[in-house]
Amino acid sequence: MAMHANLIDGEWVEAPNASENRNPSNLSDVVGLYAQADAKQAEQAIDAAAAAFPGWAAATPQQRFDVLDAAGTEILARKEELGRLLSREEGKTLPEGIAEAGRAGQIFKFFAGETLRVAGDRLDSVRPGVIAEVTREPIGVVGLITPWNFPIAIPAWKIAPALAYGNCVVLKPADLVPGCAWALADILKRAGLPKGVLNLVLGRGSVVGEAILQSPKVAAVSFTGSVATGRHVAQRCIEGPAMKKFQLEMGGKNPFVVLDDADVEVAANAALNGAFFSTGQRCTASSRLIVTEGIHDRFVDTLTGKLKALKVDNALKEGTQIGPVVDQRQLDQDLDYLKIGQDEGAKLTWGGERLNRETEGFYLQPALFTETDNAMRINREEIFGPIATVIRAKDYESALEIANDTEFGLSSGIATTSLKHAEHFKRNSDAGMVMVNLPTAGVDYHVPFGGRKNSSYGSREQGRYAIEFYTTVKTSYAQP
Ligand code: NAD
Repeated sequence: MAMHANLIDGEWVEAPNASENRNPSNLSDVVGLYAQADAKQAEQAIDAAAAAFPGWAAATPQQRFDVLDAAGTEILARKEELGRLLSREEGKTLPEGIAEAGRAGQIFKFFAGETLRVAGDRLDSVRPGVIAEVTREPIGVVGLITPWNFPIAIPAWKIAPALAYGNCVVLKPADLVPGCAWALADILKRAGLPKGVLNLVLGRGSVVGEAILQSPKVAAVSFTGSVATGRHVAQRCIEGPAMKKFQLEMGGKNPFVVLDDADVEVAANAALNGAFFSTGQRCTASSRLIVTEGIHDRFVDTLTGKLKALKVDNALKEGTQIGPVVDQRQLDQDLDYLKIGQDEGAKLTWGGERLNRETEGFYLQPALFTETDNAMRINREEIFGPIATVIRAKDYESALEIANDTEFGLSSGIATTSLKHAEHFKRNSDAGMVMVNLPTAGVDYHVPFGGRKNSSYGSREQGRYAIEFYTTVKTSYAQP
């Protein structure tokens, strides 16, 4: 099997080692052989990006538009095939994989348009005769470090704005999902990107990631992943040798509040989708379902009924609603938390068993804990699997308090038919994204994405807000 190589300075460069990318729905299926770069290759990629930067920074908006637009067109045209690759390497269902690939295409289209809309300010100075101008410039070489759970959308939502605003990129995707990142790099190379502007370095976080964090030639790092790695990225970016700008998107423990006046079907469907779809492996997953007394039992019954009907199977099989867990390590973590929850006194109302299917994979029955308390570890720590908890609340006020009582603040939701409570929740929920009668997961590509507290650090990703991270502002004064 041929190795999928790294893209360095416009060339495909094989690495000293390679690793097998295996399908979590079918462990005998090898998706491909992918490069495992060493630190030297990472440095070569960074050097190539640094050399390409002056040219790309000076490219016209039209040149950047053309590349991003062409990449978006190809991704959209190939979304079925790319979606299949995604589902095969990550394990989310085929419709989810195709939707994510489509979203990546839309993101490139969006940022193609944004290349034409970079504006500045020109002001009269407070000093007579002086003119003040505020302009935006690219930052330089940006290191992009991405997680495994959105293998094409997250690289896309970092690469597209980075390139749109004139930066050069070194992308280090998660080791579990090199396939989508490789396909993206291939598409961008053929879309006419000058050599060195985008470099792909596949490999370990401790090797390739560290090389990016330690290089004085990297001006900024955009990271998505766990809080623990995020903290480490932040420390490295600050301690030098050269301080870097950084942006971190991390974990969640997202609350979904269900009030007595909610439509129980709407609430249960939103909870089902938010908590369990994509195998619960979403940073925006509704992991804590906070339910007021009057609707509690009806909601739990309705949700449990829907959970029992879910089809858990091979991600590529028609009709599958929940694919496998991504790998053995994540499965072990899920099983640990299932035990921790029961040891803490939570009631496992449904699910949690390891499942066998036609093909050998990491199948887990989605699980629902009830009678839980917000102080339990299962309500405080991110599990990142198809496991949700129900917490009883006296009324709206106590539900809101429980919702905000967490170290995270990425997404939150409420199911209610009360305008008063919906508006109050939107204003007072301590999260970066708030949903009313909608799942906590599932967002648009043209508006900002991000959270508060330990979920995010730095400026927002996506939409027009992405410009804050991928440009630096210059203020100039002139006396004509
Ligand atoms: P992770 O933190 O283990 O890894 C993320 C990336 O960091 C990977 O590419 C990894 O190789 C790299 N890395 C690891 N060690 C490194 C090091 N020492 N130096 C540099 N890079 C290093 O996270 P994961 O398991 O891939 O993803 C799951 C996590 O991502 C969850 O916590 C989830 O909530 C979070 N996530 C957050 C968002 C968001 O936008 N807030 C979106 C998706 C996922």
